Amino acid sequence: METHIDPSTDSDHQSFFYPNRMGRVIFLAMEEILGHSGVNAVLNLVHLPAYINNYPPYNQDFSFPFEHITQLQVGLENAYGPRAGRGLAVRVGRACLKYGLREFGPELGLTDLAFRLLPLQTKLKNGSEALAALFNNFTDQRVRLERDEKYIYWHIERCPLCWHRQAEAPCCHLAVGLLQEALFWVSGGKYFEVEEKKCVACGDSACTIVIDRTPMG
Ligand SMILES: [Zn+2]
Repeated sequence: METHIDPSTDSDHQSFFYPNRMGRVIFLAMEEILGHSGVNAVLNLVHLPAYINNYPPYNQDFSFPFEHITQLQVGLENAYGPRAGRGLAVRVGRACLKYGLREFGPELGLTDLAFRLLPLQTKLKNGSEALAALFNNFTDQRVRLERDEKYIYWHIERCPLCWHRQAEAPCCHLAVGLLQEALFWVSGGKYFEVEEKKCVACGDSACTIVIDRTPMG
């Protein structure tokens, strides 16, 4: 997919985007977890008041910049403290799945009965590939999947959650929550260990989220 230049920044400073409707999914999920006033507080804190009562619209325009997605994560930590903010970001990520399925369910092709009847490991493989393809085909985010006997590695090679951010520990908690909930949904109600092990904000080349392929007992 083509990339996009943000005219508001230097010409050598490339910017990347989510489509508006995916930005809207994040706001709807935030509102479910934080309440309307909580979302407004975060937006004020990170100097993005233009989104107050004015979430991105339901369209495919590439207008929701990675910078703003990262600022929302920073805002959660600043508003609620690092520890609580991290937990809230995971919960927002989980809630994103519900609104995301409403928006992108048909594109994912995981909602039909034939998929439901596949063996668990096939569902994990097909489900993770479909979700990665959704990001790769419909956003500027880039995801590369790897698998071994025990784990699935979800490498975010261009990550909107820590764009130009520096952190001491991996900080892309929203992606962890989204994957937890996606796995829960794909597996018909099983919990999986999901952890971000590497993060661009910590100097790594990609944000790597490791998924244990065996559900927790
Ligand atoms: Zn990241």
